[in-house]
Amino acid sequence: MAFPVPLLLTFHLQSSDPWRLKFYILLGLVAYSWWLLAIVLSVRPPWLDRLVGLRSIYGLHGMLGVLALAAAYVHGENSYAPERWARWLGDWSFYAALTVLCYSVFFMSGWLVDRSMLLVKVKRLLERVFRHQLSVWIHRLNLVIVGMIWLHAHLLDRVSEHFVFMVLFDLYTVVVLGIYAWKKWIGPDTFKAGTVVANHARGGSTRKVSVALDQEETSLRPGDFFFLSFEGSSAVSRERHPFSVTDDNREEVTFTMRQHGNYTRRLGNVQAGTRVRLEGPFGRFDSIVQDHHKTRRSCSSEWAPAWRRC
Ligand SMILES: Cc1cc2nc3c(=O)[nH]c(=O)nc-3n(C[C@H](O)[C@H](O)[C@H](O)COP(=O)(O)OP(=O)(O)OC[C@H]3O[C@@H](n4cnc5c(N)ncnc54)[C@H](O)[C@@H]3O)c2cc1C
Repeated sequence: MAFPVPLLLTFHLQSSDPWRLKFYILLGLVAYSWWLLAIVLSVRPPWLDRLVGLRSIYGLHGMLGVLALAAAYVHGENSYAPERWARWLGDWSFYAALTVLCYSVFFMSGWLVDRSMLLVKVKRLLERVFRHQLSVWIHRLNLVIVGMIWLHAHLLDRVSEHFVFMVLFDLYTVVVLGIYAWKKWIGPDTFKAGTVVANHARGGSTRKVSVALDQEETSLRPGDFFFLSFEGSSAVSRERHPFSVTDDNREEVTFTMRQHGNYTRRLGNVQAGTRVRLEGPFGRFDSIVQDHHKTRRSCSSEWAPAWRRC
């Protein structure tokens, strides 16, 4: 939550606007910084995943999106932009962000769908058109929205006249978008790689796929998962999908995949020899199990105080 502070302080020190107007501009800056922070979280930093887990990262990512929109609403309702284009960009970036947020809450989070069987059915039906990969691209419109807000700030004279602030504002934007572009489009070349060595059916709707890694993965822990994409195979798309490792081998990893959707149903076509890219490993399953064992041990120890015996 300290992420916006340098930006807010710099603007506060440079601007001589009346305090009321300044407050609402600062609120707009808080919204912008939270959107940027949500973008940073979307690249799934592996060290943060080991610390808090991907679920919490996604939860925070979503919360930042909602809170930023609330802050942007108050900002927009209480401040004015004399420049026509700045006003237009401010208004339309808000409507676009609201639309993308509603879409993402429905299709990409479990916030609504996990609470109602009816919504699950509606989502499955709609996903025939709005496939996961399409949703990913619709969600990425947030990058365009960030660009619109960036331009909105640059077109506002009372904001852009503060040189030091604008340098910092641009720095925040360039660094965050740079991290995103690196992790999503340039960095994948640095992902782990391997080759499919076996792909067998297990029952009617499950497959066991083994991948020999080019290099032993020493950081792999039991229960971890990777985002896999099969390269150069016309049989299955290059989308990245998450699957958990089902054994304890760090040179050849095996996945047990349930086939129930557009992508997984085609997995049977993946031939031995297909190259695979793997993003990860992610997961906290192993550390959660170990913590649980430690708690059990300290609970049952004869030296444990009575209140800790469980
Ligand atoms: C952390 C994690 C670990 C998983 N481990 C396993 C495993 O070991 N074995 C297994 O069988 N399944 C696993 N899954 C589920 C598996 O990733 C999905 O079943 C698969 O991606 C669905 O693809 P589909 O297109 O065939 O199905 P669809 O019917 O198109 O989609 C089914 C559901 O999966 C979601 N989904 C589709 N694509 C993705 C994607 N790229 N990323 C995230 N969600 C997506 C859709 O939104 C939809 O709600 C795991 C999922 C997660 C999040």
